[in-house]
Amino acid sequence: MQSETNLPVREVINPSKTTPTARVSPDSEPGRIVAWALERFANQRTIVTTQFGMEGCALIDMCARTRKPIEVVYLDTMFLFPETYALRDRLAQTYANITIINRGTELTPEQQTKQHGEALWEHNPDRCCRLRKVEPMARVMEDVDVWLTGLRRTQSATRANVQIIEWDWKYEVLKVNPLADWSRPQVWKYIQEHNVPYNPLHEHGYPTLGCTHCTKRVPGSSVTDYTRNGRWQGKGKTECGLHGDGI
Ligand code: SF4
Repeated sequence: MQSETNLPVREVINPSKTTPTARVSPDSEPGRIVAWALERFANQRTIVTTQFGMEGCALIDMCARTRKPIEVVYLDTMFLFPETYALRDRLAQTYANITIINRGTELTPEQQTKQHGEALWEHNPDRCCRLRKVEPMARVMEDVDVWLTGLRRTQSATRANVQIIEWDWKYEVLKVNPLADWSRPQVWKYIQEHNVPYNPLHEHGYPTLGCTHCTKRVPGSSVTDYTRNGRWQGKGKTECGLHGDGI
């Protein structure tokens, strides 16, 4: 049993869910935060969400190392890269205590075209993301208490204020972002050192991976570069709307 001074998190979480913050020790490793969260909230409905980017894979590995059963939810937009589906299957095979669940939309691409016109992602990507990501995510969050994500502060300006532990007002859940302090090279180092499955497209100019229609190669980028420049190019959009108000 850890002494109090060794705990990764000093809790000041308000059970009324109005000021759910916690102070995290400066030396807290993401793996310790994950272990703390899964232990602390063992009786709450806790999930990880990911679209299988490098950060999500590292987070899944950290969860798996606790040997606790954990649900990993992803949203299949039906437009993911074949490499992403293959990675999902590899992760499921690698980690026996992880259950990967698709909670994506049931609206087929054909139905979307019929109801909203051809290539909605071209003429109204916000609506397309709302149908295929934001609304399904809201349904996921209806019965969730604690939400673990792979968000990092240096991923983008819109993520600069991500806290390791914060209250998510949008979904009214406690949000835990164990990798918030990490850089992309740290994530890559973790992936390499722990032999974590990852998407091979990261090595071919794709710093992030979303839907095929809205993700382009970023020439010259390496696995340790993180940029969202390859997403929604020319659309003035960098986030799909799953995190926070504008992100
Ligand atoms: S990323 Fe593109 S294709 Fe995917 S849901 Fe958003 S707009 Fe639609």
